[in-house]
Amino acid sequence: MLACPLTNLLRKNTPFQRTEATQSAFDALKTSLTTAPTLALPDFTKPFTIETDACEYGVGAVLQQDGHPIAYLSKALGPRTKGLSTYEKEYLAIVLVVEQWRPYLQFGEFMVKTDQRNLVHLEEQRLHTPWQQKAFTKMLGLQYRICYRKGTENSAADALSRRPVENSAHLHAISVCQPAWLQEIVKGYDSDPETQQLITQLAVAPVADGKFTLTKWIVRFKGRVWLGNNTKLQQQIMRALHDTAVGGHSGFPATYRRIKHLFAWPGMKHQIKEHVQTCQVCQQAKPDRAQYPGLLHPLPVAKRCWDLVSLDFIGGLPQSRNYNCILVVVDTFSKYAHFLPVKHLYTA
Ligand SMILES: [Zn+2]
Repeated sequence: MLACPLTNLLRKNTPFQRTEATQSAFDALKTSLTTAPTLALPDFTKPFTIETDACEYGVGAVLQQDGHPIAYLSKALGPRTKGLSTYEKEYLAIVLVVEQWRPYLQFGEFMVKTDQRNLVHLEEQRLHTPWQQKAFTKMLGLQYRICYRKGTENSAADALSRRPVENSAHLHAISVCQPAWLQEIVKGYDSDPETQQLITQLAVAPVADGKFTLTKWIVRFKGRVWLGNNTKLQQQIMRALHDTAVGGHSGFPATYRRIKHLFAWPGMKHQIKEHVQTCQVCQQAKPDRAQYPGLLHPLPVAKRCWDLVSLDFIGGLPQSRNYNCILVVVDTFSKYAHFLPVKHLYTA
């Protein structure tokens, strides 16, 4: 900026003339090269004061002690942070300052001067957005006081925040993209007479039966994209939400939930179940989730007679005097057996 008139002289087809503008630029450059702005050295026995300000394009701050500046901070805002509200930008300025000058600030109490009155009550405010919560965690563990200061008294920080950003060109345009598969769905409706009928109904009376709606030529069933009888797309979607990394070959309930969240078509649940059950990868790779059965144990050995008996039924016998089954009780020690005729309605 300072050397601009001088740089212009070096251009093609420009006469090298020394004008007043170039002379003053040369002088200004000389002074700024030979002198340095006087900054105070920090004294850790005294409290620090910070002035912050934010404007549309950037945030600025001054670290001070007894009115002497110690350090300056000026930062242009990126496209993401530019969209924040003024309050959030002011808050962002404080968070940035704390990050930058934490080594100075963490030893004692410091004061933050801001021209955003709401921030004075920062500590009592509820944290509504995730952004606020994240910012708040950065301030934890520091002792600070926030006071309000009128914008005009805050000139240093104000100027720093308004430092021009180099490429401040604006592009005011909105581009809307529509995924290709949505067009494919619309195309699929053409070969589906039932959905065609539905569309004609919806075109006449939107939200006819309360479940189907029509937006941008896409039928939605309770807000989910309706595929109709487009089997090719149904298969594609089931593959996309089961066979891919997103689907992770989940079981039927998880896959169904995932698809149900976004899409709908007739007979969906049954089809998904079939797809999951016939998935080759699932069949080959799913582990057996049953508990490990452990080693086989021999039956305990009896030490005397009738210590241990075994019971069994002999069934499937023809009826004989009202009985059709024999209960066999065997003593495992002596192998002595009792046979009891019983009446028994159940099969083994
Ligand atoms: Zn699978």
